[in-house]
Amino acid sequence: MADLHLLIDLHQDGPRQGPGGDCETCLAVALSGLKGKANLVIADIGCGTGASTLVLARELDARVTAVDLLPEFLSRLEDAAARAGLAERITAHAASMEALPFADRAYDAIWSEGAIYNMGFAAGVAAWRRHLKPGGVLAVSELTWLTDHRAEELQAHWESEYPEVDTASAKMAVLERLGFSPIGYFPLPEHCWLDNYYRPMRQRFPAFLDRHRGSEAARAIVAAEEREISLYERYRAFIGYGYYIARKVDR
Ligand code: SAH
Repeated sequence: MADLHLLIDLHQDGPRQGPGGDCETCLAVALSGLKGKANLVIADIGCGTGASTLVLARELDARVTAVDLLPEFLSRLEDAAARAGLAERITAHAASMEALPFADRAYDAIWSEGAIYNMGFAAGVAAWRRHLKPGGVLAVSELTWLTDHRAEELQAHWESEYPEVDTASAKMAVLERLGFSPIGYFPLPEHCWLDNYYRPMRQRFPAFLDRHRGSEAARAIVAAEEREISLYERYRAFIGYGYYIARKVDR
């Protein structure tokens, strides 16, 4: 568990724990068709410290259940929600995305930014579907090949890290196969990776290494992140996050 402790320490003070951006969450909200609807019930799965949760609670007339495995991240979210005056709309819940403590057909929307990969895209889409009301909306961001072909170095890295990495058309086919109708897609712009995620993380490396001086595991975490950042910087035309918005269809 030492590595988990280190990962929490590295990420808990970041603005977000994966690529994304407030404007991009708003764009997904716009594509979802939920704006203007009253009393929505929404879940944000793998919410981390809650970057997207706060946007959803602010932009929509909604109660948001924010779920993450790590209580450390959820307590950051609760602090931020209180500071933003949104605490009454947000309930944080420590649970696994693989065993959501939710009723069936309970949610108008299920959101998840940069997190569904933890159980796999297809497994997550299939498992979470039951919790959506008929016509409910699924909005997830997911590692995506942006082109049909790519360099071997890039392909080998991501296929080993996340074998489900695929093109947007393949991801949409998965959504269709699992009982959803895609209603929107866009790739996250580069600043969502570079300015919102990688740069703030890089700025935290020196203090992180300082706090864990002598820890080989801490050095290995930084080295792995640096390798991923370097790959992104060189190959960002080919790899990114796709944001997928889809409506649950009756079968
Ligand atoms: N949505 C946030 C966090 C993305 S990082 C953002 O975009 O900033 C992925 C998150 O998934 C982390 O917060 C991690 O703690 C959480 N996570 C990993 N495995 C999980 C699981 N099995 N169940 C719930 N959350 C999980």
